[in-house]
Amino acid sequence: MASGNLIRGARTGSGPERFNERHAPAPRRSVSYWCRNDHRIDVPIAAEAEPPPLWDCPHCGVPAGRDPGNPPGRARPEPYKTHLAYVKERRTPEEGEALLAEALAALHRRRGGA
Ligand SMILES: [Zn+2]
Repeated sequence: MASGNLIRGARTGSGPERFNERHAPAPRRSVSYWCRNDHRIDVPIAAEAEPPPLWDCPHCGVPAGRDPGNPPGRARPEPYKTHLAYVKERRTPEEGEALLAEALAALHRRRGGA
């Protein structure tokens, strides 16, 4: 029968997938990662392989770590500051003015003395 041949043909076509499943006996374990957006990712890692410390979260793309309580990127050791903010922190505006005046005066002295 023609229809019988078609069905058999389809079975033959699905063969390679089963073949791969049967011949992939590498033992795996599931390693969990957590990203800072509270996504948990279970990654199958080859049993003999050392799991990487970071894994990119497939949900949001940020790196995920193995510690659920401290995912990478959540706690910044220092808040971001501009260079100007650092300068202002070190010196008051008055001190800045004084330093500038001093520098200008020194410049004038050098020019005047030449
Ligand atoms: Zn995520």
